[in-house]
Amino acid sequence: MHEQSVSILSSGSCGNSTLLRSNEECILIDAGISCRELERRMSFFGAEPTQVVAVVLTHEHTDHVRGARKFCTEHEIPAYATRGTLALTPLGGANAVMFTPNRSFSIGPFRLSPFKVKHLAAEPVAMSVTIDSKKVGIASDLGCITPGVLDGLRDSELLLIEANYDEMMLLEGRYPEFLKRTIRGNHGHLSNDDAGILSTRSSTERTERIVLVHLSKNNNTPEVARMTVENALKDNKMSKKLEVAEHGVSCGPFDLG
Ligand SMILES: [Zn+2]
Ligand SMILES: [Zn+2]
Repeated sequence: MHEQSVSILSSGSCGNSTLLRSNEECILIDAGISCRELERRMSFFGAEPTQVVAVVLTHEHTDHVRGARKFCTEHEIPAYATRGTLALTPLGGANAVMFTPNRSFSIGPFRLSPFKVKHLAAEPVAMSVTIDSKKVGIASDLGCITPGVLDGLRDSELLLIEANYDEMMLLEGRYPEFLKRTIRGNHGHLSNDDAGILSTRSSTERTERIVLVHLSKNNNTPEVARMTVENALKDNKMSKKLEVAEHGVSCGPFDLG
């Protein structure tokens, strides 16, 4: 049996982690919920920690690394990250492996291609992961869409794209001005409108499904995010399966077969 799938264990500021599976081997992209919660949510999808060959961290923010130290040390799993991320992520005795943006590398059946993003962190990346010729593009925690991001995501079968906030909800909401500016800034997060632009500009005929991730609990709703990106796709005469990962809730699995 061949099984290649992607499951979102959690998404949003309360914690991010995505499980990629190729038959009996898995990797986690980010580990932003507690070790126990990672284990519990993996079991929903029929996966066990012993199957995880690596934890790959995109950047050092707590919502991406919260469970990494315990999960990696307890299960003797290597943690992969850029030099900047490793410098600021406490990993205890875990085996830390450094990778460099714009240089592809393999972990078992997974081919990873990390690329730089603009975000208020030391050396943040987004990435594509190719499993058995199926490409998954994962881009969250970025303030703007650069040519490198478009290149990195292009031609993915499955796209996970950040839709953090609705512009009006953020502007009219209760966050202090400096925080609104940071979120909207070039090193902050992507809005629903940005997600619409990124979805239409990075999708090709190969792209079957788009999942919106990292939604803000306070400045967005799944309905508003979906509608905004649906309209952008419609305006560009594109038809894709569209899913929304609700704040803190597991979703998937999305089969790549
Ligand atoms: Zn985040
Ligand atoms: Zn972040």
